[in-house]
Amino acid sequence: MRELLLPFVLMFLISCQSEDMADSSNVTPGSVNITSVVQASYINKYTEGVSVQLNGYKISISSTGLPDHKTPYWGEGHEMYEDFPGANHANMNTTMISFNYVMTIPTYPGEGSYKEQTELGPVGMALNGVPIYNDYEGGGVLQENAWSTFDATGAHPGPREDYHYHTEGTYLTVDDSNLIGFLRDGFPIYGRQDMDGTYPGDLDENGGHETVTSDFVEAIYHYHVSNEMYSTSGLYVIKSGAYHGTKGTFTQ
Ligand SMILES: [Zn+2]
Ligand SMILES: [Zn+2]
Repeated sequence: MRELLLPFVLMFLISCQSEDMADSSNVTPGSVNITSVVQASYINKYTEGVSVQLNGYKISISSTGLPDHKTPYWGEGHEMYEDFPGANHANMNTTMISFNYVMTIPTYPGEGSYKEQTELGPVGMALNGVPIYNDYEGGGVLQENAWSTFDATGAHPGPREDYHYHTEGTYLTVDDSNLIGFLRDGFPIYGRQDMDGTYPGDLDENGGHETVTSDFVEAIYHYHVSNEMYSTSGLYVIKSGAYHGTKGTFTQ
């Protein structure tokens, strides 16, 4: 009898353990320390609005969320104003305001025990401190009425006048291998190419893979801007799908 029961007891124990792991916010740290790249990248890119604080096993990046480049959303008359890229645009009366954003990410980003889908709102922060959003807007995936409001850099303000990027544009990356920022799980995100100029062919369902990059001499998981054109927009979404790691906080 005891021999018969043992396999069931073991199965029960194993299933309990895996549930605990899925619910746990404890993440196994990765092996690569991102501190020096975060410090060098964010601070070199935009010294005025962005600062980096080290808190032991976490890094906090603070920003105003305002861009360091031209956009119609500065408003006519502003020195950084420029018109929309195309004739078809909307939302011209919307402006953008500054925030006190703080994104907190792990010093050693690790793979999550489960892969949480990205949601509405900030999924990461570009190197100039502007939030990165995924392919969702309000009630669903990006539609033409949303992408017609994008400026040349693939960004627009939301209903709270919160300026953010959705797609590749003329600033962060233009079909290249630029480091453009970090997502909330602490993993870096690059343009559509790898550093050797090729388009990665082995991306997982979350748009990433683990190799060395121009910034990391040790192999690290990193995302890429999508290489699939988004619908008929002519645009390439920066990030869709789930996080590879476990997302940290993004407050305002
Ligand atoms: Zn948006
Ligand atoms: Zn890559």
